[in-house]
Amino acid sequence: MRKQIAAANWKMNLTYQQGEKLLDEILEEKIELAPHQQAIFAVPFPYLIMANSEVAEENNYFIAAQNCSDKKSGAYTGEVSAEMLQSIGIKYCIIGHSERREYYFETTKTLAEKVNVCFENNITPIFCCGEQLRIREENNQAIYVQQQLEESLFHLSTEQIQTIIIAYEPIWAIGTGRTATTEQAQEMHLHLRSVLATKYGQEIADEIPILYGGSVKGNNAAELFNCTDVDGGLVGGASLVAKDFVQIIKSLK
Ligand code: PEP
Repeated sequence: MRKQIAAANWKMNLTYQQGEKLLDEILEEKIELAPHQQAIFAVPFPYLIMANSEVAEENNYFIAAQNCSDKKSGAYTGEVSAEMLQSIGIKYCIIGHSERREYYFETTKTLAEKVNVCFENNITPIFCCGEQLRIREENNQAIYVQQQLEESLFHLSTEQIQTIIIAYEPIWAIGTGRTATTEQAQEMHLHLRSVLATKYGQEIADEIPILYGGSVKGNNAAELFNCTDVDGGLVGGASLVAKDFVQIIKSLK
């Protein structure tokens, strides 16, 4: 059965104490996750040590990084390597969030490198793709996201691609309160799966979790996650509110 995942992206929000309180409130709910369900919290770098705290004791709950360097090590002041993440027990890392592509000029080539260093260190990339509003208005979204996958992922081996997580995040829906309709989400997720199938085969593509991101809230998660090819969500704003994120985790199928 394909993994179903609720992934929180805290971005550059919350103090450490606020983050701890939020996590406590969520864990206190003691939501029983089935073996194929996971809750992942992508926290700011200094908070990654939370991975060694109470989260470590919960089955299927994980702390993730929001980014890592494309370089292995060396004179890159301010960067954090995948090897460093691995050394403190981190198993997941968001790669290619649209905010990093836009504000930090991350190219598909840099993202291919980041994906590589993740795999070299046994870290599963949560690879983000998605189109700007202009591209959607021109109806070019299918080819646009296809190219994002081809340029950053298609060098991967079958063994590697089998463990990746993809997040489709239409940029026009991120932080805007404007969610893709279930039809738009399902159509794009099915397309992404067929793109993966042309390269890696249908059987492999059918096992890759594809999350939806873009104004997922407690009250719309179940409807979105119910789509056949939507395997959970990558959530920004609503992941900062315990009640909302609890409802999102409970909406996993
Ligand atoms: C995100 O940043 O990944 C995201 C989907 O944000 P939001 O849920 O706030 O739209």
